[in-house]
Amino acid sequence: MKKPNAIQTILSVAACKLTRLFLRKTGRGGTAVPGIAAMKVCKNILAAVSDGMEIIVVTGTNGKTTTCNMIEHALTSAGRSCLLNKSGANLLHGIASDLISNADWLGHPKYKSAVLECDEAALKQLVQYLTPKAIVVTNLFSDQVDRYGGVQNTLKEIRTGVERSSSSILVLNADEPLSASLALNVPNKVIWYGLEKTVGVRGNIDLSDAGTCPVCGSEYKYDFHIYAHLGGFVCPKCGHGRHTPDVAVVSIDKTSSSGSTIHLKTREGTREVFVALPAVYNIYNAAAAVAAASAAGVPVQKAIESLSTVHSSFGRLETFELNGNRLQMILVKNPAGCNQAFSYVTGFDEDFTAVLYLNNRTGDGHDISWINDTDYEKLCSDPHLKKIYVGGDRAQDLSDRLRKAGASDDLQQIVPDYHQLSDLLKQEKRPVFILPNYTAMMEIRQILVQETGTKEFWE
Ligand SMILES: [Zn+2]
Repeated sequence: MKKPNAIQTILSVAACKLTRLFLRKTGRGGTAVPGIAAMKVCKNILAAVSDGMEIIVVTGTNGKTTTCNMIEHALTSAGRSCLLNKSGANLLHGIASDLISNADWLGHPKYKSAVLECDEAALKQLVQYLTPKAIVVTNLFSDQVDRYGGVQNTLKEIRTGVERSSSSILVLNADEPLSASLALNVPNKVIWYGLEKTVGVRGNIDLSDAGTCPVCGSEYKYDFHIYAHLGGFVCPKCGHGRHTPDVAVVSIDKTSSSGSTIHLKTREGTREVFVALPAVYNIYNAAAAVAAASAAGVPVQKAIESLSTVHSSFGRLETFELNGNRLQMILVKNPAGCNQAFSYVTGFDEDFTAVLYLNNRTGDGHDISWINDTDYEKLCSDPHLKKIYVGGDRAQDLSDRLRKAGASDDLQQIVPDYHQLSDLLKQEKRPVFILPNYTAMMEIRQILVQETGTKEFWE
C-alpha cells in the first residue's frame, strides 16, 4: 500500500499516542482503540511506521506466543533491536497500536525488526498494510469452532493472507499437512522445519484434523507419527507428502521439566542444543524459531545457541514459587494443546496436584464441547495424580467430564472462588500443574502475581 505523506503520518501517529495516553490515564486497557483511531485518521499508516523494518509474522493455532518469544530472543541475541507485541492483542488494530506507539512522532520506527503474533483470521488484513519478511505458520488444529467455522476455513483465511504477500518467505511445519499445504501453488520461498522419524516420539494420534490430499483428495498414509495429525504423511495415490525439513530435529536425547536436549540438523551440520522450555511442542516451536530467525538473516548457529537461554512467556509453562513449592501454568484452549499438556504433566516420576479451570467467555470461545474430544482419561489414569482442583464458570461441566474419565469424588474438588484456590495452593506440598483456558488463566495469574510478587508481563 502507498505510503502516506508526512502530515497524514504525524496526525495519525498523534491520534494513536494520545488515545493510548488517555486510556492509560483513565485506567483503561483497550489495546485496539489507539490503532483504530490512527487508522481512522490515515488508513495506510502501517506502511509508514513499518518502513524499513524487518517484520516476522507468526500465526497458527498453537504455539504462536512461545514461538514469537523464541524468535525475538534469537534476534536480540544476535544484536538486533526488536519489537514484540507482548500484550496478546493479535488482531489488526491491536498490532497497529503496538507498531504505531513504538514509532517516533514523525512515524519513524524505533526498532529494526518486529516479531508480530497474528490471529489466523487477521493475517489477510495485516498483509494489506505491511510486507512481512517471513510468515511463520506453527500448525493448524480445530480450535474455537464457533469463531472460525472449522479448521479448513482457517486454512483458507491464512492462504488468502499468503497469496497477498508473495514476497514473504514462508516458514512451515513440514509435519503438519494442513499448514504444509500452504506451499502449494504460491511463488513464495519456503523454509521447512520438523521432527524426523528418528526422534521416535509417539504421542496421542488423532487424524481428525489431517484433511485429505489437496492435490487429489485421497486420505494420507503415515510413515511415522509424532502426535495428533503431525508426522510423516504421504498421499498413496499422487505422492504429495511431507517435505524434508531444512531445520530438522533428528533426536530428542534428554527431557526434563526444565527443557530438552536435542540434536538439530541444518544446512550447517548437526549440533546438540538445550531448549530451555520443556515438552515436545516447544521443540517444534524452537525449530520454527531457528528457521524464522535464519529467514531474517540471523546466523543459524546464533539462533540455535539462543534456545538455551529462552524464557517462558506469559502463561505458557510459566513457573511460580509459592511457599517453597513449584507451580507451573500451562494455557490450554483446545484438545490438541490440552492433550500435549497432559503428556507433559504425566511424564514425571513424582506425585502432583492438577488445577483445571474452564471459562467460556469472549476470549475463550463460547463452545466448550472440545472437552469431550480431550483425553482427560490420560490425565486421570496417572497414578501420580493425587488431587484435582476444578473451577471456572463451567466447573460443573468439567467436573462431570473428569468423573467420566475416571476421577472419583475423592480425587476431584470443585473450588468456587479464586481466594479459596489461593489458600489451597498455599498449603500444597506437591508440585502443582495449573491448566486454565484464557480468561481463567488471567484471573489465576493475577492472584499468583499478588501472592508470589512476580512481575506483571508488561513491566
Ligand atoms: Zn494425492
